[in-house]
Amino acid sequence: MSCIFCRIASAEIPAEVVAQDGYALAFLDIAPLADGHTVVVPRRHVATLEEMPPAEIEALFRMVAHLSGPVRRAVGAAGSTIGVNNGAATGQTIPHVHVHIVPRWDDDGAGSVHTIFRPGSRRPVGEVGKEIRKALA
Ligand code: AMP
Ligand code: ZN
Repeated sequence: MSCIFCRIASAEIPAEVVAQDGYALAFLDIAPLADGHTVVVPRRHVATLEEMPPAEIEALFRMVAHLSGPVRRAVGAAGSTIGVNNGAATGQTIPHVHVHIVPRWDDDGAGSVHTIFRPGSRRPVGEVGKEIRKALA
């Protein structure tokens, strides 16, 4: 088993685990972007959110919601940025789904999710909305 998060999920290698259940577990990031930076992963190996069945998605995000307040309070943060790098093109370095919970402070100097994108001309939202509704059908 080469996936590092699978090895953590099976307790083959250590991690600072803060919560776990039958579907998911949460542990502290080894190279934290802030104190309390936590990653929440499904126990089963899956590379992207799109590949997860609804029950696993629900369990994963239930744990994220359950942890966001306690993680924030534990480190005295004012809020948190919660995000998923979903696919290699986004900068996902470990191809096992993981949700980052990164505690934030008013003066921490980091930007919002919007700051990772460059402004530019975009297709009209009505046109794109039509494409997405078609893809959903
Ligand atoms: P991403 O760039 O979204 O794929 O994030 C992967 C995250 O996993 C990074 O923030 C790494 O610091 C973190 N990471 C890598 N190896 C470990 C490990 N052994 N234990 C905890 N976190 C890890
Ligand atoms: Zn894995």
